[in-house]
Amino acid sequence: MTRPIVTRFAPSPTGFMHIGSARTALYAYVWAKKCGGTFILRIEDTDKSREVPGSIEHIEATLGWLGLTYDFGPRAPGPWGSNIQSERLSTYRAAAEQLYKQGLAYPDPFTKEELDALRAEAEAEKRPFLVREHRPDTTVPWDGTRALRFKHTALSRSVWTDAVRGDLSAGPEALDDFVILKADGYPTYNFAHIVDDAAMGVTHVVRGDEFIASTPNYLALYDALGIPRPVFVTVPPILKDDRTKKLGKRDGAKDILEYRKEGYLPEAMNNYLALLGWNPGTDQEVFTMDELVTQFDIGRIHVSGAAFNETKLQWINREHMQKLSAHLFWEHAEECLTPETVTMLDAKNLWSQVVPLMRERASTFGDIGALDREGEYRYYYETPVVEPSKLCWKGESQPATKTRLEAVLGLLEGVLDPWSADSVKAAVWDYAEKEGKGQVLWPMRVALSGKDKSPDPFVIAGIIGRDETLDRIRAACRVL
Ligand code: GLU
Repeated sequence: MTRPIVTRFAPSPTGFMHIGSARTALYAYVWAKKCGGTFILRIEDTDKSREVPGSIEHIEATLGWLGLTYDFGPRAPGPWGSNIQSERLSTYRAAAEQLYKQGLAYPDPFTKEELDALRAEAEAEKRPFLVREHRPDTTVPWDGTRALRFKHTALSRSVWTDAVRGDLSAGPEALDDFVILKADGYPTYNFAHIVDDAAMGVTHVVRGDEFIASTPNYLALYDALGIPRPVFVTVPPILKDDRTKKLGKRDGAKDILEYRKEGYLPEAMNNYLALLGWNPGTDQEVFTMDELVTQFDIGRIHVSGAAFNETKLQWINREHMQKLSAHLFWEHAEECLTPETVTMLDAKNLWSQVVPLMRERASTFGDIGALDREGEYRYYYETPVVEPSKLCWKGESQPATKTRLEAVLGLLEGVLDPWSADSVKAAVWDYAEKEGKGQVLWPMRVALSGKDKSPDPFVIAGIIGRDETLDRIRAACRVL
């Protein structure tokens, strides 16, 4: 019988979640969903000195925003108990005691100073430093106050398979007696994650390549504890856009929740993260979560580094924004518009007409917020103050401009029903072609928006309606 698939995301609570950890979480989540399995969030807080208060809440908020809902996690203990490692100390101690009793662990005889001295000596002699080469023949009994080290008993070549990288191996120099339990009673990551993965039935370990070097040690531990190896799924590093190095904080690796503030959609973020190190083998680039779950395959995760490209993320976000219904789009837009714009576009029931214009120009909802702050949506609900000089097309005089606007006014007064962008266009188009489009449409547009840049005058006229359009053109004629 095959085991049910279980994956976990196992962050340390040491600060915010960046692109790399969010991608690991996504891959683990999607793979579990695809296989009808279980996804666990486990908090690895065994290094209390590195802990940043509030990190667990932050991690939960990030997963919540991305929709990566866990089956078991900090707020949902499993049959094995808590999913927060600091609340599982007795489990690690029991496993460590088991190894000690079997002669597979021994009290660490070294102080930090002694180890530093041995390491320095090895470095001076240009040979690799291995603790096991200094392992004492006899050890004092372990009274629980000292750190405990794992004892390697077989020094053969390690061979394993990674679902992404294929067959891997390392010589015995990769094996060393590592600390499993520290003197303070906390386990090391190297030990705790293995004990937990076994207790939680984890079948697939999805994580970064920084753990490959230690895998030979882990393999020895699986054997010593008599537990089956999980499938190792090593995700590729995330590189700077120019691929010169790993993406770091200075290169723009930021808190994933910053993207929410900037007006990205979680579905776009998931889509982008999925493609950062995986491809479906087709040309498809825009995926819903359901499509990701159907199509994702750990066998198609890339081995080589994936370059982070914010422009691509924006493009994907734009694609997902286009897919939103007008209602949903407006709901998102409301979060980044000023309260005044929201109230006015809502009150005048203009939002549904403005949403298509918002869609045209924005890659994120943050863009829409920025345009709003520049006054981009104000002229739909408020008569603009128009400067006469702005009304004139290149090199045109004010009297000539006024003549054209008066002509436009006359033409528009003849448009009764229906009043729409199309009927307004039909009414003035021939005249604009005859007199020059710039000469006619520029002052018309500025009269309606008060701005150098805006959608074309037909669209604005269609939205603000007949009376307001005629009033604004009359007002422009008066100032000229
Ligand atoms: N706590 C480890 C980290 O944050 C997790 C590694 C793993 O997934 O096993 O890097």
